[in-house]
Amino acid sequence: MLTDQDRIFTNIYGMHDRTLAGAKKRGAWDGTKEILGRGRDTIVEQVKASGLRGRGGAGFPTGLKWSFMPKQSDGRPAYLTINADESEPGTCKDREIMRNDPHTLVEGALIASFAMGANAAYIYIRGEYIREREALQRAIDEAYDAGLIGKNACGSGYDFDLYLHHGAGAYICGEETAMLESLEGKKGMPRMKPPFPAAAGLYGCPTTVNNVESIAVVPTILRRGPEWFAGIGRPNNTGTKLYAISGHVNNPCVVEDAMSISFEELIDKHCGGIRGGWDNLLAVIPGGSSVPCVRGEKMRDALMEFDYLRNELGSGLGTAAVIVMDKSTDIIKAIWRLSKFYKHESCGQCTPCREGTGWMMRVMDRLVRGEAEIEEIDMLFDVTKQVEGHTICALGDAAAWPIQGLIRNFRDEIEDRIKANRTGRTSAVAAK
Ligand code: SF4
Repeated sequence: MLTDQDRIFTNIYGMHDRTLAGAKKRGAWDGTKEILGRGRDTIVEQVKASGLRGRGGAGFPTGLKWSFMPKQSDGRPAYLTINADESEPGTCKDREIMRNDPHTLVEGALIASFAMGANAAYIYIRGEYIREREALQRAIDEAYDAGLIGKNACGSGYDFDLYLHHGAGAYICGEETAMLESLEGKKGMPRMKPPFPAAAGLYGCPTTVNNVESIAVVPTILRRGPEWFAGIGRPNNTGTKLYAISGHVNNPCVVEDAMSISFEELIDKHCGGIRGGWDNLLAVIPGGSSVPCVRGEKMRDALMEFDYLRNELGSGLGTAAVIVMDKSTDIIKAIWRLSKFYKHESCGQCTPCREGTGWMMRVMDRLVRGEAEIEEIDMLFDVTKQVEGHTICALGDAAAWPIQGLIRNFRDEIEDRIKANRTGRTSAVAAK
């Protein structure tokens, strides 16, 4: 388990002073000028060496992403955009950073922008996050007043502006190119790629989009050294991670612990165990609603990291929003609810997603009641495969994967319900 000394977020529960003075006491903004003095290339190399992988879900190496930005400007400005949209069901980790430890993000935004040659950064915050926006804006204002950002930020000679932009509550604006469209004042609809944002992003200029947590951990990594961060977790899955555990555990929480911690340790140490004990665990969605669910018995020894969850269990770490479901859950109905969500949030641009999400939801609707034929299970699986990978953005995959996970792991349950419906033995849960 991670020791307190190795925690990056020291005020995640808001127990301490979150103002600039409080943040400085806990180590924020310490030696920032010196860090900038190392130069762009060194910072990028150190972030690469730390093994940091994007905390927004995809797990792409952060330093490598930064290195895609042009070294020399062709006259166009460069931008950093920080994704604070956090709209996926189950995911609620970044808001703890923004409302309780906002200076980690403001300092990280300065350093990351400097490393990419960006003189301005935008934080795109979820529409519903009112208190978080207020806390973050206060931190930005404090940083401006103290000369930490703005003209000659931290006395480094580098000019840097940070803007906070409030979204209007559309899930799709968390997709990086839809976010850029929205920032430009247009409808939040994903763009075709290529061109990738590093070549033509915000206002057609080189842009990198990073998650809040990915940026907020950077100052500590650079202060303590990349080796420290790389020494936590396992190779290729390094560092500390915020886990947001919800559902049927005794004490749902957001907690920072080591990457690659076992699921059992995470739940027993921080959440007081599974409600009703481990034998009562039915299923887990380990990484936010878009990754496939896993049967409870397979999860117990699982390592909470990108590689293990993908390679061994066919799921994913995603945003590490862990949704725990005990045996009181109607798992078919739970996944149906996610299908309904994705159908509602589809932007409608591409046919497989626009039509497929609705089609899948309607079949799921019947599966909840058992009003289907057994053959339709395979047909539904086929349709998820026709949506997956055939759309402009990842929402299509996000809609397909939970259903695939359900069919792979709980086919017996779906079949039982169909048979029960035929014989008139539909359970009270399913009949609701
Ligand atoms: Fe829009 Fe869905 Fe296509 Fe994404 S996959 S662009 S949300 S229609």
